[in-house]
Amino acid sequence: MNNAIYNFALPQNEPVLEYKSNSPERKQLDAEIQRQLQHPIEIPLIIGGKEVRTSQTGQLKMPSRHAHLLATYYKATEKEVEMAIEAALKAHRIWSDLSWTVRASILLKAAELISGKYRAMLNASTMLGQSKNIFQAEIDSVCETVDFLKFNAYFASKIYEMQPQSAFNQLNKMEFRPLEGFVFTVSPFNFTSIASNLNMAPVMMGNTTVWKPATTALLSNYYLMKIFQEAGLPDGVINFIPGNGALIGKTVLASHDLAGIHFTGSNNTFNFLWQEVSKQLPFYKSYPRLVGETGGKNFIFAHPSAQANKVAVNAYRGAFEFQGQKCSAVSRMYVPASLWSGIKSELIRISSDAAMGDIVDSNNFINAVIDEASFDNCMNYINFAKESEEAEIIAGGHGDKQLGYFVEPTIIVTTNPKFKTMEEEIFGPILTVFVYDNSQLQETIALCNTTSPYGLTGAVFATDRVAASAICDHLRYAAGNFYINDKPTGAIVGLQPFGGSRASGTNDKAGGEFNLLRWISPRTIKETFQPATEYRYGYMME
Ligand code: NAD
Repeated sequence: MNNAIYNFALPQNEPVLEYKSNSPERKQLDAEIQRQLQHPIEIPLIIGGKEVRTSQTGQLKMPSRHAHLLATYYKATEKEVEMAIEAALKAHRIWSDLSWTVRASILLKAAELISGKYRAMLNASTMLGQSKNIFQAEIDSVCETVDFLKFNAYFASKIYEMQPQSAFNQLNKMEFRPLEGFVFTVSPFNFTSIASNLNMAPVMMGNTTVWKPATTALLSNYYLMKIFQEAGLPDGVINFIPGNGALIGKTVLASHDLAGIHFTGSNNTFNFLWQEVSKQLPFYKSYPRLVGETGGKNFIFAHPSAQANKVAVNAYRGAFEFQGQKCSAVSRMYVPASLWSGIKSELIRISSDAAMGDIVDSNNFINAVIDEASFDNCMNYINFAKESEEAEIIAGGHGDKQLGYFVEPTIIVTTNPKFKTMEEEIFGPILTVFVYDNSQLQETIALCNTTSPYGLTGAVFATDRVAASAICDHLRYAAGNFYINDKPTGAIVGLQPFGGSRASGTNDKAGGEFNLLRWISPRTIKETFQPATEYRYGYMME
């Protein structure tokens, strides 16, 4: 066995390709989009490395053309969930015993496959299935996925370097055991990279997983699973089981080998899982590790010294890119009265310019929301604002679900800083603005801090650097990712570790050491060279 101590260099972030028309990457992507459009596929479960088909199926349609079938998928029943748990437990011994550098090499190989051979495939499936435009798909399904894989291998190498001191007459060692049991990974629809990372972070540290992907993200997630297999992931290390969340959740939580949950999604689902685990605590072999990134009600706070056009452009991008369906998307904004007319006219100008439509047409900045439930939810909030005397809609306000689920980017201005759309996560293209009196700066900062239960992302815009710093301090717990003069979306692995607290989750910062540490249970081993031969201590002797 090669027992050298290995070094992993700090990786570079994956370059974002431009996809200009006629570029080689654009031609490849266009061809792959056509291939996936014309050839609907079948998505089986993958348990213990084997494809499994059940008697229950569902259909996967395109959000921007909901009559178009992308895939037929099979749903897990209790039996397949139990098979997946068994396969994960069986694979645990081999996988956890394998040298961590071999595990790292499988992650790095997956990164290479995604960066090269399967770049177009992962982008096209994320575009068609999750309704992301080229840029949004590229920064998520390729660049962030590759970054998560490479940086996790690097950060794991740093963790494995950590060892305790050894003193006279003893040798102390730390063994980085994976958790005892399996990890239940539950992924959301909105980021292909998150689905990858929820599995590959625990897997890097020697764990095996039972993976419940979001139904609306199945196309890209299935391709991810196939890429992991091609990269050399042994059978049973990740077990891919699409299906009904409630059924899968209930069956998984009934296993006493549940060692952890790695979750990203809504607050309600994570709260439910946490409560169910708590109810059954004595039944589990260990205390399950619960790591969850959940919702947000992210803000931009404009200081009177801010520049109107910069606030408007960043608010527009931050609120409406990917239809406001990033957990970090801006959904409330505080603007001083002195700046409002400049910001408002710029927001209206951009709104009339930015086109909305199918992801296949690259002129569109805005695409469809993920499904009908999301469309209806957005329209309910918009209609609520239309009927309220405390709100005015200055841009957007309409939706059309005839062909695809299109909701216009909508800007609501409210006179009530606690208006429903200032407080609740909507997860769609809706931005609410509260215009404050310049004399009420301090009171408005306090309002920003206390209006919503979340604490994910936020930004201050100011040219007065001292004021920006004071606002950053005051809003210390309002955001786990805070930005000065930038939109609060677009965190990059290795540069801005991501996650929030309060109702936004456990803030274990995906893509870094903080997260990886949650997936190990270290064992300390002390060896003594000269064991004691006398029970009495010195002070007891003559
Ligand atoms: P969701 O909670 O509806 O679904 C997430 C996953 O949970 C899906 O796979 C779903 O099938 C599964 N699920 C639902 N009920 C379950 C149950 N009882 N047992 C087990 N699994 C169950 O969330 P979503 O709509 O897919 O994603 C949007 C949410 O995710 C938003 O609230 C957003 O803010 C959040 N999000 C947060 C972050 C972050 O880093 N904080 C990142 C991305 C998304």
